[in-house]
Amino acid sequence: MKIGLGYDVHPFTADRPLFLGGVRIPYEKGLAGHSDADVLVHAICDALLGAAGMGDIGEHFPDDDPRYKDAFSIDLLREAWRRIRRYHPTVINIDATVFAEAPKLGPYKQAMLNSLAEALTVSTDRINIKATTSEGLGFIGEGLGIAAMCVVLID
Ligand code: MG
Repeated sequence: MKIGLGYDVHPFTADRPLFLGGVRIPYEKGLAGHSDADVLVHAICDALLGAAGMGDIGEHFPDDDPRYKDAFSIDLLREAWRRIRRYHPTVINIDATVFAEAPKLGPYKQAMLNSLAEALTVSTDRINIKATTSEGLGFIGEGLGIAAMCVVLID
């Protein structure tokens, strides 16, 4: 068994849709980035690659590569898992936290679980998503961006 840790941050921008966990979430702002800037999927991807000892998301999908401009990160996760599962075929569990002052994510958690489980070909009971605010503190509390953290166990 191998454990992995992932962490990511993206700043809000006014002119993009918000994607988290592969789900389009209605909100007045989206996240800036080369791909769709799905910070939760990026953290999960890095955790899986870390557990596998296979580097990080930037090495697999460089953010200066035009192929990944505006890419759906859930597709990058699907491809990363295709590369990882040859050596480590089983996701034991994924536990992730999204740090965001807004929007409230509770109504979208099941859709995110479904999306992530489909990309990783696991059942949703292997994945847990938590959401928390930063109580008004720091860049998250000021509503400047969203962060996500994730640990995974693979076998
Ligand atoms: Mg990222």
